Amino acid sequence: MSNNSVLANWIDGKLSLGASKNLSSVYNPATGEVIAQVALSSQEEIDAAIASAKKGFKEWSGYSIAKRQAVIFNFRELLNSRKEKLAEIITREHGKVLSDAMGEIARGQEIVELACGFPHLIKGAFSENASTGIDVYSIKQPLGVVGIISPFNFPAMVPMWFFPVALAAGNSVVLKPSEKNPSAALWLAQLWQEAGLPDGVFTVLNGDKLAVDGLLNSPDVASISFVGSTPIAKYIYETAAANGKRVQALGGAKNHMLVLPDADLDLVADQAINAGYGAAGERCMAISVVLAIDTIADKLIEKIKSRISQLRVGNGADKQEPDLGPLISQAHLEKVSGYVTIAEKDGAKVVVDGRNYSVENHQNGFFFGPTLLDQMPTDSKAYTEEIFGPVLSIVRINNFDEGVALINSGAFGNGTAIFTNDGGAARRFQNEIQVGMIGINVPIPVPVAYHSFGGWKNSLFGDAKAYGTQGFDFFTREKAVTSRWLDPAQHGGINLGFPQND
Ligand code: NAD
Repeated sequence: MSNNSVLANWIDGKLSLGASKNLSSVYNPATGEVIAQVALSSQEEIDAAIASAKKGFKEWSGYSIAKRQAVIFNFRELLNSRKEKLAEIITREHGKVLSDAMGEIARGQEIVELACGFPHLIKGAFSENASTGIDVYSIKQPLGVVGIISPFNFPAMVPMWFFPVALAAGNSVVLKPSEKNPSAALWLAQLWQEAGLPDGVFTVLNGDKLAVDGLLNSPDVASISFVGSTPIAKYIYETAAANGKRVQALGGAKNHMLVLPDADLDLVADQAINAGYGAAGERCMAISVVLAIDTIADKLIEKIKSRISQLRVGNGADKQEPDLGPLISQAHLEKVSGYVTIAEKDGAKVVVDGRNYSVENHQNGFFFGPTLLDQMPTDSKAYTEEIFGPVLSIVRINNFDEGVALINSGAFGNGTAIFTNDGGAARRFQNEIQVGMIGINVPIPVPVAYHSFGGWKNSLFGDAKAYGTQGFDFFTREKAVTSRWLDPAQHGGINLGFPQND
């Protein structure tokens, strides 16, 4: 692919460039090179994408359950046999190391596998003879055209949190991927076609705010599933809800790991490294704060520090794989660097400094070294706001209650973890903490496909989490039918009273 190639939309089963002359550069973050341009859709292309999805819905929702299931099984097989190719695409535009890209695909594939068994999850319910001679049953039907808007940090997995479930339930999908790395979405669209999905059922609409607003404001889009930063998630939630749409909008995070003195500190140090610096900290479930009881803080910091010195930062596509790759863009690198400077000014101690980090032969890459900050003041913006980079902050606390209170006072509620060997403490933590996903000696507690994913507070606007049974509830609408097949011998005659079960 040359750096002049333009990534188009996927509409009606083919690549479609449309008339938009508005382009945005796509970078390889490891080299800093522009590797492609993506066309940012105009209103005309947005309308064409939605119209095609509307047509696709008509056909797809008429498919039998068995026929839909066959297509999803095909997709699963194709994805499984070609996932290495998808991992390369992810790494090239995102920067994460190849094994991490494979991990992202594996977690997305779990949802595809959940969707393979969808008939059981969209079955309705039947009550025979609810009243004499009357049966009541409920059926679950698809919504129609559903919009998915995804962030840069999981270009394959986050769309896969939603589209397998949405499609299985009989909807058609318009996916608006991040303009920073749109190729994974286009690759997945072509895979669906190969799997036998009718044209128009899976559409990729590239673009920026205009495309997002096009989905939010279209009366032909029934629901919006969004994942991204909190301010945009809030905007999406409010706008979609005002337009009468069903909406789930997942936002940012600031995840804490609480370490009690009885924990195995080597295990804690390993997990803090994995969860703090993996994917260069660009994960919504990354750990960004370690709450350490003061009596063990020095010892833990030494252990984390010595492990950081062994980490290798480099090009994620390198066959001799580094531990972490670059950040997504130069602008994001400067933002992360700015937070470290703010923390320092506010009184944090910079134990390991990843600013001005360079990687051999990659002078223009967006690299930021693993950074460790001690004594982070909890009123610093570097503590209260999401950094989304390889920056781990230590906050020293005196006891368990102080840790729980600190976590609960935060604006976000995505994930958190406790490390301890005390079952009673872990149980209290699980009960008292105001966070949607909790790890007990597990640092990144992303639920498996048959449970649902989602945080509390500013990490999720809306009622429905992603995937699992909540995913199927989100992408279906229930109808209740009350039916009586009259036995002419038992005609009830006229009765103007409200129907009662007598
Ligand atoms: P982002 O909010 O900048 O972008 C997300 C999507 O919204 C993109 O498709 C983008 O094109 C679109 N968008 C951006 N600005 C917009 C605007 N003004 N109006 C309408 N649409 C707009 O997020 P990002 O930088 O791509 O991703 C990182 C963020 O996503 C982090 O905050 C991270 O925590 C969050 N995230 C959350 C979860 C979760 O499950 N809660 C998962 C992954 C990422």
